[in-house]
Amino acid sequence: MSTPQPFITVQQVQKAFGAHQVLRNVSTHFDAGKVTVILGSSGSGKSTLLRMLNRLEKHDSGTITVDGIEVSDDAKALNALRREVGMVFQQFNLFPHLTVLDNVTRAPRRVRGTPKAEAEAKAMELLRKVGMEAHAHKHPFALSGGQQQRVAIARALAMEPKVMLFDEPTSALDPEMVKEVLDVMKQLARSGMTMIIVTHEMGFAREVADRVLFLNQGEILQDRPPEAFFDQQDNPRIRAFLGQIA
Ligand code: ADP
Ligand code: MG
Repeated sequence: MSTPQPFITVQQVQKAFGAHQVLRNVSTHFDAGKVTVILGSSGSGKSTLLRMLNRLEKHDSGTITVDGIEVSDDAKALNALRREVGMVFQQFNLFPHLTVLDNVTRAPRRVRGTPKAEAEAKAMELLRKVGMEAHAHKHPFALSGGQQQRVAIARALAMEPKVMLFDEPTSALDPEMVKEVLDVMKQLARSGMTMIIVTHEMGFAREVADRVLFLNQGEILQDRPPEAFFDQQDNPRIRAFLGQIA
């Protein structure tokens, strides 16, 4: 029996902004159907690592492959990559001039050429899943932050990605709205979606992650299951980090 290939592989990746080395020789992999949480202090390179996976940032050297697609500037590869990878940001980035429904149907209609009625039926189904069906005809300004973020998740899912990247999806939210977004993410995790999540929500990480990666100054300092990471933490640097967050 052959072992399945990892869904994403990152091999000896380096990234600098000017003289500042932000990622140092990072090698790791992400398996299909698994949830990985990336932790680390501000500036440790978490966003840069995530953004390189769908070419929002270019790596300087090393190799990244996503579902067999080598991440590069090749137009065909980029197109294929962007279809497979969905991303949700700290700032929800919804199109302000479009209704919720039009936000969700926009990419399927433009990029995939999905007919309007079909795109809208699919969008309504996704909006139901994130609890936003009743708000389909509103504009983003009429929604709370938590509601906007749930729409942003539905919008990313509308392209039927094979992996979802989340960069601090609840960091810009008022505390009372964090749970409704995390609940949607938990439901997505249970459905078997491959997810890579940068977050400071430790309870969520412990409950949902299959694996925790800790980045420190551009290097992976630790890669462990959540139980070992949170309950048997022996690294002083990470213990200090956890102490600050808790
Ligand atoms: P994190 O998400 O862990 O807080 P980032 O990946 O955003 O860290 O950033 C890592 C380092 O790279 C930080 O020091 C940040 O200031 C720097 N950096 C990130 N993006 C850029 C950029 N576009 N230009 C210059 N420096 C950047
Ligand atoms: Mg960041």
